[in-house]
Amino acid sequence: MSIPFRSREGSQRPSASNGIKLKMPKNKDKIEESVLDMTLRPTRWDEYIGQKHIKDNVKILLRAAEERGHIPEHILFYGPPGLGKTTLAHLIAKETGRQMKITSGPAIEKVGDLASILTNLAPGDILFIDEIHRLNKVVEEILYPAMESGVLDIIIGKGPSARTIQLDLLPFTLIAATTRVALVSSPLRSRFSGGVFRLEFYSHEEIGKIIERSSKLLNIVLEEEALKEIAKRSRFTPRTANYFLKRARDFAQVKAASAKNSGVPKQKSGNILDKKIVIDALNMLAVDDIGLNSSDRKFLEILIEKFSGGPIGLKTIAAAMSEEEATVEEIIEPYLIQLGLLERTARGRVATKKAHGHLGFEFKEKQEKLS
Ligand code: ADP
Repeated sequence: MSIPFRSREGSQRPSASNGIKLKMPKNKDKIEESVLDMTLRPTRWDEYIGQKHIKDNVKILLRAAEERGHIPEHILFYGPPGLGKTTLAHLIAKETGRQMKITSGPAIEKVGDLASILTNLAPGDILFIDEIHRLNKVVEEILYPAMESGVLDIIIGKGPSARTIQLDLLPFTLIAATTRVALVSSPLRSRFSGGVFRLEFYSHEEIGKIIERSSKLLNIVLEEEALKEIAKRSRFTPRTANYFLKRARDFAQVKAASAKNSGVPKQKSGNILDKKIVIDALNMLAVDDIGLNSSDRKFLEILIEKFSGGPIGLKTIAAAMSEEEATVEEIIEPYLIQLGLLERTARGRVATKKAHGHLGFEFKEKQEKLS
């Protein structure tokens, strides 16, 4: 089957005709982040750093499908935000020359929304569903036969006169992403016949390479030590690294402009970042030298001060922070666990000795036995 290539840019615009709703970030920071994501998103496999295991597997999957003359099978990516799930979907679309339609779990509210999306796909299109764990159950059940047998079962009418009609769909590949794979039901998970892949946090070296590439794209001269400072604090996460780079550049630019206005001699240009300017910029964002931000520190402080270091349940600590459980579980905890500051035990969350040390709290015996 020959699949026409169409620009994916076009598919990113909201369209009333195809019923596809797109993620539209609401606040200013989110908009800035999403513009930055688009600007810096790798467009070739060799620009996509790390995640070797996933890249190798996906490349084989795509090659095998191409050789058999089939479309690639459905794929699920999971892992914390900003690790490159959406980027992988874009790369697959680009690599296979397919159009990609983008939507998200919460945007597909009704069965009709999904039906409209699926029936508007061209042959071989990729459908990308972000946050698939937030798909409602009724919609999810319509997705099963669509993924498995390429049909859409629609119930028309209500009560005794209700009848089911079956529509044949054109072949498509579903690529889905989630930050919470445990919330994806096992029937849905099992339908990702191409594979379910977990994205790993990046090493400092990999983050360093990503920052280097981004600084070139953003026209920033980044000194070696400055690069290391950003890498060290960027939560092993490309999106955070790019965001810090951009914020440090903004900071340097404003500093340089105000220095020039007040006649300070030998001031570096705004697009040159050294270690000091990066540290000052990140301090302003309240990011400490191991990448903890104010929410991370608040989490650990509450855990240690109010709950004697744990163990304590997720619900309780989220309530004490006035934060949503999902935010705590998906955004705050993975990094703390990765750093060895937090443990998730059967009895609840426990702050480790290292966490006590980092925040300057005394570590008591009771917790020593638990961790
Ligand atoms: P997710 O979908 O997991 O939240 P994204 O794919 O949107 O994350 O990635 C966020 C940004 O981080 C991308 O726009 C890109 O600039 C950068 N990025 C992510 N993964 C990589 C990678 N492996 N190599 C280079 N840049 C990456």
